[in-house]
This record gives sequence, structure tokens and C-alpha cells, in this order.
Amino acid sequence: MNDLVGNRPLRVTLISPKGPLYRHSGGIFKKSLRYQPLTLTTLTALAPAELNIDFTLIDEGIEDLPDHIDADLVGMTVITGTAPRAYALAAKLRTRGIPVVLGGPHVTLMPDEAAANADAIVVGYAETSWPRLLRDFAAGAMRARYDQGADFSLDTPVTPDRNRLNKKHYITQAVFEATRACAHACEFCVVPSAWGRKQYQKPVAHVVQDIQTWGAKRNIFLDLNLISDRKYARKLFTALIPLNIRWFGLVTSLIGRDPELMQLMARSGCSGVLIGFESISQTALGGMKKGFNDPDLYANLIDDLHRLNILIYGCFVFGQDEDTPDVFDRTADFAVQTGIDLPRFAIQTPFPGTPLYTRLADEGRILTRDWELYDGQHVVFQPKAMSVAELQEGHVRAWQKVYSAPNIARRLAHSRTQLPISLLANFGYRYYANHLHSHYTCDWPVGYAGRAA
Ligand code: SF4
Repeated sequence: MNDLVGNRPLRVTLISPKGPLYRHSGGIFKKSLRYQPLTLTTLTALAPAELNIDFTLIDEGIEDLPDHIDADLVGMTVITGTAPRAYALAAKLRTRGIPVVLGGPHVTLMPDEAAANADAIVVGYAETSWPRLLRDFAAGAMRARYDQGADFSLDTPVTPDRNRLNKKHYITQAVFEATRACAHACEFCVVPSAWGRKQYQKPVAHVVQDIQTWGAKRNIFLDLNLISDRKYARKLFTALIPLNIRWFGLVTSLIGRDPELMQLMARSGCSGVLIGFESISQTALGGMKKGFNDPDLYANLIDDLHRLNILIYGCFVFGQDEDTPDVFDRTADFAVQTGIDLPRFAIQTPFPGTPLYTRLADEGRILTRDWELYDGQHVVFQPKAMSVAELQEGHVRAWQKVYSAPNIARRLAHSRTQLPISLLANFGYRYYANHLHSHYTCDWPVGYAGRAA
């Protein structure tokens, strides 16, 4: 093995490049909002043991890249917002003779574009394609493209190499994954477009073992929708009860229609859930193919979760065709009145490869294909019922409204759920809300560059 480098180990550097809002230096997020990502540490764990690879992992969200990267191979995981940076880094490295592999959601959705910027690409998940690529590379025969077929499973235990990233930069390293994919097909979502709707699930016993081995009391599940398969969710939640841990994760609003599963989720140690409410208009939800969300049930769902001492990260997206300029205040007021512990707002983003992108492109409404602006915080398409500037500025106003000191107090007085944690996170997001303006480092679309918060 390792024909390319004689007897010494292969040196592989894995990078998670970041967009302007999330960079370590000058980035907007404080440590209180960051948890350790799983991609790089999982890729490390997937490497064939016989290759004896010496990995270096760099999360550009927490640290600057070294001046000089010395590696036999560099791999990068790419989302749309970081694609320009990944391509620029790849060009520099390739000029120096270092081969570059690109993978991740953007590469999966835009393989031809990515292939033009890399020596090899990994399309889809990486469970068997990444080890294959590494073996081929070690043998001096890396191909240009590796596609992950759907015929893989998560049955073999793979324990992410969490200690390879520097823990001091994260609120927690205790991040886990039980499932992949989601059964739904929301128009804007990258997940069904990139990976399909087939469910992949780790055996519950492996998830439990990983959590027990890591040994943290507070844990985060990064699964995109933990209750996508309710039968599996019931098994998982039941198995978590004896561990006596606390955990945070993502579910849909459908949890509100299954009181038994919600109770079980609470008994399993659930401390907080992220829910994509997206909109308080049923018409808008129908338009984005997320009609299973019912705004009339949101307030009850929020109350039910609070009664079970579960915090709510409630996400909303602005820029639907039905959204008029009053949507920002109405949505922010709703979040305050219902006591959502941590409201989050995004601007609708037509990620390339999604049905939303296709529709807006067909309607001639895509305004820019500068992928760096595809970060959920910039307007990159022509809204229907308001101007670009109204959407951009209304979004910032909604953030600032819900995170004003009086509205934090109102929300938390209503919620009264896990106040110490909630307060800390609220101050993190208050900082974010008040610095969002100053982190628009470009002139797109309405000359934000240099404007103070
Ligand atoms: S429910 Fe969430 S993860 Fe599933 S398709 Fe919709 S937005 Fe994506």
C-alpha cells in the first residue's frame, strides 16, 4: 500500500471551508452557538485501517488555515455558500501539485461544476465511495468521480474521530447521528434533492454505544429529522431512557400530532428541538410543499413542548411568493407571543439542484449565481410581492425585533423553560442579530458593505 509515498503514512488534510458569515476570523458566530460538526470526523473514521493515513482536520469556522498545507491529498466538504472558497483553495493547492477531492451537498447537486475544480469528486454519501477513493489514491489510480450507490447501509459501526478537532472552540463535541435522509420533499430543501428520500438508520444499539463511550451528559443529534420514521424514533427514544442523558435534535411539527411519541421523547432526555415552522401562512406552506405544517397548531405544540420542559428553536423562512412586507413583523410578533425560546429567521434560498431553484430559474427570477451569497442571509432571487431591499432589510429587522431585550424577556417569561441555557443562547443570538448588518461584507444587493449594525 501507499505506493505513492513509499513507507511513510499518507498525509491527508480534510478541510471544511467557510463562507463569510461563519469564518473564524471576523465571523459572526460566537462560541456559544457552535457545536462540533460530524463530517470531517466521520470521513476520518471511514478510512481503511490498512492505509495508515495521517489525517489533519481543519474546520475553518474555528481556525484559520495554516500558511502552508503540506499534504499528499486534500479533501474538502462543500455546501453551496462555501463553493467559491473551496474552488479558490483547490486552485491554489493544485497549482502546488497537491491533488484535491471535493464532496458534500453542493458537489452532489452540481457535480460537473465541482469536477472542473478538482482532481476527483465524491457524489452522494461517502460510506463506501470515500474508502474506495483512498485505496485507489494510495495505489496511484485515483479516478475523477466516485458515486455512492444507494445500496449501502449504516449497519457497520463507525465512530467519528471527535478528538481530532480542537474542543476548546466548540460548545460541545458530543454530536451524534442516528439516521440519514428525510421522508418529506419540501421544495427548498437540499436533502431530498441531493440524497433522495430513502431512509438510512444506524442500529439503535450502535448509537447507544457511541453515546455511552463518549460519556457526555448533554448531547446533540444532527439528524435532519429524528422522527422521519416514527417506529425507529420510538426504538431510539426508548433505548435512550436508561442512559439518563439530555439531548437536543431536529424534528418536524408533526411531533405535535403524536402525543405519545412526544412524551417518550421527553422521557428519553430531550431538552430541546429545532422545528422548521417556516411560515405562519398555510398558503405559503402549501407553496413550499410543506403543507403538513399547520400554523393553527403551532401555539399548542409550543405549549405542549414547554410543559415537557423542552426548549424550542423555531425556524422561519422569508421570501415566499405570498409574503408581503408585513410578514416580518407578523412572524416576529408570533414568535414573541407564543414564547418560542430561540426564533431563527432565514431568507429563502434557491439552492441549485432543488425544485425551488428550477422553478425560479424557469420564471427568470434568479438574480445571481454567485454561490457565496447562497447562505440563507442574502436575497439571490426576485421576490414576488416585495422588493429585494424590503426582503433583505425586513429579515434583519425580524431578527432584531425578537432579540430586543424586552422581547427576550417576554418570550422567556412565557416559556420559563430551562432558563439558564435559554438565556445564554438568547444572548448569543442577540449578538448575531445585532451584528448581521456589519457582516454583509459585499455590496449585494443593496449596498450593505460597511454599514454598521
Ligand atoms: S422536513 Fe426538513 S429535512 Fe425534510 S425535506 Fe422538509 S426541510 Fe428538508
